[in-house]
Amino acid sequence: MKLAELTWMDVEVLSRDVVVLIPTGSLEQHGPHLPLFTDSLIATAVAQGVEQAIPEQVLLTPTLWLGASGHHLKFPGSLSADFDTYMGAIGSVVQSLLPHGFRRFYVLNGHGGNTSPNDMAMRKLKALYPEGTFAHSGYFAFCEQAIAHTLEGPLKGMRHACEAEASLMLHLHPNLVRKEKLRDDGLIAEPPVKGPVHHFDEITEQGSFGYATFASAEKGRTIFEAAVAGATEELRTIATGYVLRGLEPAQESTR
Ligand SMILES: [Zn+2]
Repeated sequence: MKLAELTWMDVEVLSRDVVVLIPTGSLEQHGPHLPLFTDSLIATAVAQGVEQAIPEQVLLTPTLWLGASGHHLKFPGSLSADFDTYMGAIGSVVQSLLPHGFRRFYVLNGHGGNTSPNDMAMRKLKALYPEGTFAHSGYFAFCEQAIAHTLEGPLKGMRHACEAEASLMLHLHPNLVRKEKLRDDGLIAEPPVKGPVHHFDEITEQGSFGYATFASAEKGRTIFEAAVAGATEELRTIATGYVLRGLEPAQESTR
């Protein structure tokens, strides 16, 4: 079910076993070839695919599109929330629904910069409401194998406006891809030290990271279908209830 299309009376009678699905994206530079809204468009499409697959088990909210994108702000047009504001938005959605009995929440993310604050937001909520189920993942976690098998460029994982992301956009929104501007960019060797936090103007020339010139709509379809299937399975498992194991006291030894 899509929250935005329901009335409050529809919501009142919903099962409280549904998982509230909150997609998170961004509006930030994606190199010369992909639009600023790329992460939000992909996260929305994956989340809608999940909702279509198991509509009775999911309550899909609109995508929270203002991401934690401070590392892209050197490129004009990128918009960012500071971390507290960003986490506050997620907490506000959850805390609006908790008093009405909803207790399962899942943030499905489309932007790497949101990963840490999503985790922090969920941990804060779990501390406040220990009985609730709070979970989060990037859609990219569900299609890692499809990405590794599908990509033809030197990088076999998801980066930024890369072969995988450009392929997803060629599949989902081909009219928004500047095909003549597809570009390979980004550091080609690991940085010599592990610790530093880098902004994208420091590690790329024009904002993308990866081998977007290898992108194709066909690869995008493969990756997209894997992401929807994996995320659907994840949400279905939470909706139907799962059991944590390993907490029972060890059997008395017969010694
Ligand atoms: Zn992206």
